[in-house]
Amino acid sequence: MLDVRWIREHREAVQLAADAKKIGVSVAELLLWDDRRRELLKQAEDLRRRKNESTKMIAESSRSGERLNESVDHSKMQVRRWNEALKETEKALDKAQREFDRLMGLIPNVPSPDTPPGDSDADNVELRKHGAPPSFDFQTRDHVELGLMHGMLDIPRGVKVGGSRSYFLRGPGVMLHRAVQQLALDLVMEAGFQPVEVPMLVRGEQMWNTGFFPLGADQAYQIHGEDLWLAGTSEVPLISFFQNEIVDVSEPIKLAAVSTCFRNEVGSAGRDVRGLYRVHQFSKVEMVVVCRPDPAVSESLHQEITRHAERLLELLELPYRVMAVCAGDMSQKTYKQYDIETWMPSRGAYGETHSSSNLHGFQARRSNIRCRNEAGKLEYCHTLNNTAVASPRILIPLLENHQREDGSIHIPQALRKYMAGMDILKPNL
Ligand code: AMP
Repeated sequence: MLDVRWIREHREAVQLAADAKKIGVSVAELLLWDDRRRELLKQAEDLRRRKNESTKMIAESSRSGERLNESVDHSKMQVRRWNEALKETEKALDKAQREFDRLMGLIPNVPSPDTPPGDSDADNVELRKHGAPPSFDFQTRDHVELGLMHGMLDIPRGVKVGGSRSYFLRGPGVMLHRAVQQLALDLVMEAGFQPVEVPMLVRGEQMWNTGFFPLGADQAYQIHGEDLWLAGTSEVPLISFFQNEIVDVSEPIKLAAVSTCFRNEVGSAGRDVRGLYRVHQFSKVEMVVVCRPDPAVSESLHQEITRHAERLLELLELPYRVMAVCAGDMSQKTYKQYDIETWMPSRGAYGETHSSSNLHGFQARRSNIRCRNEAGKLEYCHTLNNTAVASPRILIPLLENHQREDGSIHIPQALRKYMAGMDILKPNL
């Protein structure tokens, strides 16, 4: 969320950001409601003051034993009038405040000046590439076929039990799934991130504060009859950990969680229906950073967390590229975003495996997370997040890039210590 004074001073930039992010909100309308609620607030205060004055006068008259006289009668009539006017004003104020809050909830973060313009992921700009897609001299298999050959993936039974976009991982599938997560966790812990076990059942307030509501509410699963939601990412509890707190960010706070994530994937009907690319439940090792609201500091941390994800892919011996995400492909809360895409042979293309974002003060303002600057003044922090690894999606490039003609899978060196020393997985033939 942005400060309404800031929005007023930058109304054109904010409207451009809303248009670029395809959010239907009018900044002019927001500012009108802001004017209206301020005016009504003043009116209500004025009416309350007058009412109190008249009430005081009546009380004083009755204390002093004065007989009811004309002026007391008049005051009583005035109090009734002020009361009625106050009721009307408060009703109007309530409506103005609700409209203002609703529109404020839709106002986006303004993208960084170096964010590429554009409408969709087709307009994202490649910044750098690592490794080359492998060339195979045999008929390759996709991860679903490989998963079957190894007895590690069972989608039909997943669908039987959990409906569409569900799966079972078994045996070596589970080992690989856990191995990539442990490798990612070890890597970020070595980089100074503290591991945290988080609640993934969170309240609507935290979903709103972290920028997943109101837009995106249809992506979340709600517990029937309760204000409890299954979070789609541990970013929600990790940021909310600091809600309503004044934090010491003389050094950036770096946290990492391994969690299960739940996504409705509404709006993705018919997209990525085969295999493990887009599922309703997956695991993610997520990095979150809270830092001083100094743009140079958060920019440098953004580069740093992006590098951690790149390092993970290098350890997994996978070709990848880093994309600068364009304004039209960014969510409401984002100031600047890089996506990392990993080569997926079955798609004949790079597919997104990581997403690294700098939110500036958007989440901290909504969540009321503050720090003191050098002058002792309270300011809203900056927050950032990035995927360390998300599985099972990462199993797609892992199985497909490292396959051999007989269906066996090469295990990258860095994973072997988590895979009982195995350097190759042999299929069950
Ligand atoms: P996000 O938290 O939306 O930035 O996503 C981070 C990463 O989680 C993505 O780059 C994917 O690797 C993974 N991911 C997101 N949504 C899904 C999904 N529905 N199924 C599988 N993996 C997902």
